[in-house]
Amino acid sequence: MHNAFKLNNIDGVSFLSVPSFDETGLCVTCFSTRLGGVSRPPLDSMNLGFGRGDERETVLENYRILGGAAHFPHERLVAFTQVHKNDVFVAEEKDAGEAFVAQKREYDAVVTNVRNLPIATYHADCVPVLLLDPKRCAVGVAHAGWRGTALSCPAAAVRKMCEAFSSDPGDILVGIGPAIGECCFETDGDVPEAMLSSFGDDVSHFIKRGDNGKFRVSLSGINAFSLIKAGIPQKNITLSRECTCCKSELYWSHRKTHGVRGAMASIIMLK
Ligand SMILES: [Zn+2]
Repeated sequence: MHNAFKLNNIDGVSFLSVPSFDETGLCVTCFSTRLGGVSRPPLDSMNLGFGRGDERETVLENYRILGGAAHFPHERLVAFTQVHKNDVFVAEEKDAGEAFVAQKREYDAVVTNVRNLPIATYHADCVPVLLLDPKRCAVGVAHAGWRGTALSCPAAAVRKMCEAFSSDPGDILVGIGPAIGECCFETDGDVPEAMLSSFGDDVSHFIKRGDNGKFRVSLSGINAFSLIKAGIPQKNITLSRECTCCKSELYWSHRKTHGVRGAMASIIMLK
């Protein structure tokens, strides 16, 4: 297991990439931060979510800036409305630009083997998972809040890559990006119950009970567990240990801001 994403600063724009993915030379990875956009408070400054209170033109300008810094054609981005389920979309050339249509379809994970077609999920505490099969040249993104984690959404994306592109899980590289950590993800009993019901006692060490009757849950840890169970070798996983809520000066955190926040994008594109 590798421990860190890389923080890049290009022309005042800060975004993360996954070193093990970068080393293959096959793809662009970009997990955006709050920094480098043109949105004004309280969405300052890199907000990539439409419907968060920003002018549409401002959000489009943020995409243009991010695409320029991270080297992807932002106008071709494929992203969907996220609904905390585990349906996976196989993106094709004709889907280019789906991120900017008025009525996006609903998917929490996207995979593709089309080059020059960036795919993305949106985040502000929920776990971002990036996938790269360097042998079959295919990529994927998945969004996993606690419901998506319990539904093994990232593992569903791995399965879809195996079906659609003949990927072998043993070849797939995984990047699990910044998300709310167990330091800050305090929950009632519903979250641990969902995890234990999906994964059994094997995930009990990712759940801690506090003195106040509440629980603290490591969603990133459970997603890594779920992906390893789906056949991903542990050595293929890069796990960011950064907590979006603790580092809210760098990342958007839904919990920290009580929902008044922008959105980050977790993007991958085959070159
Ligand atoms: Zn934290």
